[in-house]
Amino acid sequence: MCGIVGILGTHEVAPLILESLKRLEYRGYDSAGIATVNDGRLDRRRAMGKLINLSDLLVHEPLPGRAGIGHTRWATHGAPSVRNAHPHRAGRVSVVHNGIIENFRELREELAAQGLVQESDTDTETVAILANYYLSQGATPQEAAEKTLARLHGAYALLFLFEGEDDLMIAARKGSPLAIGHGDGEMFVGSDAIALAPLTDRITYLEEGDWASVTRAGAQIHDIEGRLANRPARRIQIDATQVDKGGYRHFMAKEIAEQPTRLTSALDHYLSGDGTFRLPSPGLDFATMDRLTMVACGTASYACLVAKYWFEQIAGLPVDVDVASEFRYREPPIPPRTTALFVSQSGETADTLAALRYCQGKADRIVSVVNVAESSIARESDLALPILAGPEIGVASTKAFSCQLLVLGLLALEAARQRGRLDAAAHAGALDALRQLPGLVNHSLGIGEPAARIAQQLAEARDILFLGRGRMYPLALEGALKLKEISYIHAEAYASGELKHGPIALVDKAVPVIVMAPHDELFDKTVSNMQEVMARGGQVLLITDREGAKAAGQGVWETLVMPDVAPLWAPILYAVPAQLLA
Ligand code: GLU
Repeated sequence: MCGIVGILGTHEVAPLILESLKRLEYRGYDSAGIATVNDGRLDRRRAMGKLINLSDLLVHEPLPGRAGIGHTRWATHGAPSVRNAHPHRAGRVSVVHNGIIENFRELREELAAQGLVQESDTDTETVAILANYYLSQGATPQEAAEKTLARLHGAYALLFLFEGEDDLMIAARKGSPLAIGHGDGEMFVGSDAIALAPLTDRITYLEEGDWASVTRAGAQIHDIEGRLANRPARRIQIDATQVDKGGYRHFMAKEIAEQPTRLTSALDHYLSGDGTFRLPSPGLDFATMDRLTMVACGTASYACLVAKYWFEQIAGLPVDVDVASEFRYREPPIPPRTTALFVSQSGETADTLAALRYCQGKADRIVSVVNVAESSIARESDLALPILAGPEIGVASTKAFSCQLLVLGLLALEAARQRGRLDAAAHAGALDALRQLPGLVNHSLGIGEPAARIAQQLAEARDILFLGRGRMYPLALEGALKLKEISYIHAEAYASGELKHGPIALVDKAVPVIVMAPHDELFDKTVSNMQEVMARGGQVLLITDREGAKAAGQGVWETLVMPDVAPLWAPILYAVPAQLLA
């Protein structure tokens, strides 16, 4: 996911655009560029690699102008190179784009047949050529943009800038979010509100299919049918400290360390003084619910998988969990009395949003568990439950995962209460144990040092296996995902009981096996699986509690000892070592 910024300002905009792009760096990128209009003249600068290269280039070749657009690119079509970097330009039009234009080949051939040939290998340049073609046919910039958008298939956030127009940007959104920021005689556009944080806190989110003609006087927004749309501007609270590394080397490290505070905020939000759970209106009737279908992607889907164990074990509520990219295309039947629940940190995950829309009108209720309260998924749900993790900048989800688990855990407890599956004392006990979590997570951050020492050795491995049983199985999946994503070490996770059905063949002394197993009702079974591994020379790293460490016996390579925690909620606590090791 790349970043987009546009500014119609009162001073030089290139330095401001550069600063805003920096705030989008967390999304990852391979090249960057800026285009401005100065005295009507369109010009651009592009550079490979980090933003510092673009900033150096701007020192040697400044880019004056009070209107401009900028981009950090994550290549999908055409290798990372200056030639393929955005902004792309064709004649009087410059374009930055986030996403993929699926029909760019047909469009490119059609334009080439008219002698309009592309310089780069990107799908984005085709958009610029098409818009410039319509301009050359006499269309106004707005007409040219509208005609161009009507031809595009795929997902995009787009921003157009035009030669001769230093008070105009055209923004369009389909599949990738865009936020319009309102200033004092200035206007801004960004991939998210964080990009615009120090510039303005008054934000209008474009909705699916919207396009906007933005001038310094404001934004005129059109919906997918081309009708003028009234989209409110809201004040967004983004604490500048939340988008700062705060002394940590990485956002991910900061966000791991922040988990106790974030979990506390979420508990305070959902629990009233007397400890009762406050479900926002319109609430949820779990007693008449026959089935809960949970849909998400990546880490959020593992949070759903943990929650499946909770809902089924303590509330007796049948749960399906599916990844959104499969669910949306399979067109699954939705039986009566089904509630559909969607989990997404950003609330903009395209597959999850599509799955949600598929369920609209079929499921009894659409519920979402999101971090960004103004997101599309939140807005399109009957009930949106915020996780209150604060902005998550690190690309690998950490604090959002633990906060998602906390909210899902509270929901499972509420379901158990409503369905009469837990008596008052058991319910109060479970809730009380949940309240202990921020303290326990804080305590568990203390394993940072031994985890770092063990990680030095794990870093030598080419393949690593994660094992878990019951509620810890999804956590093993999450541990393997984190490791792949962050350290580029190949990792796989198995339910411990599955090991003997094939994967055991992979185990030898070169393949470390990480076993996540608190001393719970399934611990003895897991010890047997560890024995199978050790019998093949496998090196076991056991993540457990004091009892587990004692009971595991001889032969374990390393042990990370976690604080004692109620077994039900162990997945929330054991997320910490998985994150720290990665
Ligand atoms: N598909 C475009 C490209 O490869 C945009 C990629 C992005 O989202 O950065 O240039």
